[in-house]
Order: sequence, then structure tokens, then C-alpha cells
Amino acid sequence: MATYGGIELGGTKCVCAVGDGSDDAWAETVIPTTDPETTTKSAIDWFRDVQRRSGSLVSMGVASFGPLDRETGAIAQATPKTAWRGWPVRAKFEQALGVPVQLDTDVNGSALAERAWGAAQGCSDVLYVTIGTGIGVGAIVNGAVVHGRSHPEMGHMRLPQHSTDRQPGAPEQLWAGSCTFHGNCWEGLASGTARARRAALWARADLEPPDAHVLETEYIALGLVNLISAYRPERVVLSGGVMREVGLLPSIRKRTRELLDERYFPEASRMEELVVAPGLGDAAGVVGAILLAAELRPGYLHSRPVGRLASQIRARLTTT
Ligand SMILES: [Zn+2]
Repeated sequence: MATYGGIELGGTKCVCAVGDGSDDAWAETVIPTTDPETTTKSAIDWFRDVQRRSGSLVSMGVASFGPLDRETGAIAQATPKTAWRGWPVRAKFEQALGVPVQLDTDVNGSALAERAWGAAQGCSDVLYVTIGTGIGVGAIVNGAVVHGRSHPEMGHMRLPQHSTDRQPGAPEQLWAGSCTFHGNCWEGLASGTARARRAALWARADLEPPDAHVLETEYIALGLVNLISAYRPERVVLSGGVMREVGLLPSIRKRTRELLDERYFPEASRMEELVVAPGLGDAAGVVGAILLAAELRPGYLHSRPVGRLASQIRARLTTT
């Protein structure tokens, strides 16, 4: 029986799954992400065990935290996770499991998954934006994931800073932001990390902080306006921990609509269709990894088992 392997390699956990052509033969597990040797070995052991029980994999996809060097199939040197710098993810799994492996970013994988079975079904132009500890964006244009020389890094674009986002105790100075490399880039202003750092700074100064909801709304809307101007997507899927804040999605839609101006961007009048919550939730990454595997060996993919796999993984992740 032909089976695809998928791994979502995240900063704290690594979700492994197998999807195949029969309704019942699938499996999934979650292992902690620690150092590259231990994490990779645990994943390989699990896949070997599945292969012994259920037959060989035909290919494997890895949807990983970035940045990646897609040419060599490795984690890029610029990753803040120092132990993972240059780790040859693709070669490690190819050598250990003897199958072709496609490595891509977690957000590109998630974009594929949301388009196949989630909130962007039937769309040929999709952006998947995750706003959590960092900000990542995956893009599908004309049905294909966007790659050039490398994957895009839209989380690090620049935005005008909000007038209330100042250095505590120095009102003439804008806050420097939290990105290690760029300070006040999009991720440095609007990620969960930025939000926590800003709150801690103001708490330490014993001062009333600027309204976090106002800042998140403004920064995420500004980012979306830039992305929508650049890509003109049919759908933008907004995910990640920051987006769990109640009421944030409606405020972002409202502000994005104002900034776009529907006289110029007609799609701004349909914000409920344009900017949406994810359909697959936390399962999108690993389901996307299976779709990356299926791109290497098309012809074995059956939508029903993997759709079912998505709900299974979603249930598992919400209970762990
Ligand atoms: Zn940055």
C-alpha cells in the first residue's frame, strides 16, 4: 500500500503523520523538538516502526520552521535556533528512510493544506499568514507555491509604526521592536513575542502600556494591505496564537477594508470572504507536509483519508 509520510517540524514540537490510500491505515504522533540529532532520531524511529507495520513510504514531506536553504534541503544559517543551523533535514530523512523528501516552510505546507481541505478550498491564489512567536507567510499563486531563489520572508517587511508605540519613559522615541535582526519589522512589532516584550517593558517601568488590541489591529491590517496589494489573493488565511484573541479578526477586517479602499480594491467589500480563520487549525502544518510528499509522487493521494487524518490530528493537538 502506497503511503506518504509528513512531518511538521516546529519550534517546540514535531508532528509526524502518515496518510495512505486506505480509510483506516494512517498514524500520527507528536514528539518534542529538542536538539536536531535527538529530534530527527525520534522521528526516524517512529517512521521506521510505521513502515515495519504498514509497509513502505513512497515519499515524505517536511514542513519546517524557517528560514530554510531549499537548494541544499537544510535549515538556514540565519535561524535563531543555533543548534539547528545548517542541519541537513532532507538528507537525514532521505538516507535513513530511503525515500525522496521535499522540504518546505511550515507556512507553505499549511497554505497547501488549507487550499486542499481547509478554508481556501477551490482558490488558486492564497496567502497563509501565521502570527505567533514569529510571523510567517506562505503564498500560492496560480495554484503553485511561490518559490524563486528562496522562499519569501514577508514577516520581516517594514510598516509605519503606530504613534502610541513608544519607548516607555521616553515619549519622543518610538519602541525599537523585538526582531533580533531588524528591530521594528512586522514580526518585531506584531508577533506574540513583540507583544510580550512590549508588555514586559511597560510593566517594568510601572506605566500604562499602549492598547495592545489597537496596536495588533493596526499592524496586522497594515501587513495585510501590503500583502493584498502585492498578491491580490482570493483568500488570506490568518492563523497563529495571536489570532486567538477574541474580537481581533473582526477589527482587522474592518481596518484592512478602510486602508485598502474598495473604490480601488473591489475585494475589500468582501472582507468576510477575503480574510478568514483557518479551517484545519493546528493540523494544517502536518497535513501540508503530506501534500508536499504527494507532490513528489503524485497519483497515490486520496482526499478522504487525509481529510480524516486532519480531524484526527486536530483532536490530538487540542488535547495535548
Ligand atoms: Zn525582522
